[in-house]
Amino acid sequence: MSDEPDGEIDEQVRAGLAYVCSSYGDLAQVLGPDDPDLTAVRSAVHSGDAVRAALDRLHDRLRAAGDALGVYGQASRSARSGAAAMPGISDELGEIVYVCGSARCGRYVWLEDAEALPACSLTGMPLAMRRVG
Ligand SMILES: [Zn+2]
Repeated sequence: MSDEPDGEIDEQVRAGLAYVCSSYGDLAQVLGPDDPDLTAVRSAVHSGDAVRAALDRLHDRLRAAGDALGVYGQASRSARSGAAAMPGISDELGEIVYVCGSARCGRYVWLEDAEALPACSLTGMPLAMRRVG
């Protein structure tokens, strides 16, 4: 899972970034705030570099640290519970969500779940309010 064509972000990467974005604080606590694999993901998003390789390394790090699911396993689990990939169509008309300003990160936060204006952990940019449905 490392043959990412330049500039192409697949759904697994988007979901993985969404997981890292929403769990950045927890990951920084487990691995350390200056962990090279964690900061590599963040700087890849910042610089527009291919993030797949950095995400793969972080995934392997987490699994080595005892997280059996790693980035991708956690991402698909939270996607099922509605916390990762942005739904294209919602049954609930007119719901407001905050979405990550980064096109690469698939994180979103429902308005009712947001305590304050959330910011992307990867880019530092505030999430953008959007109405779906
Ligand atoms: Zn984000």
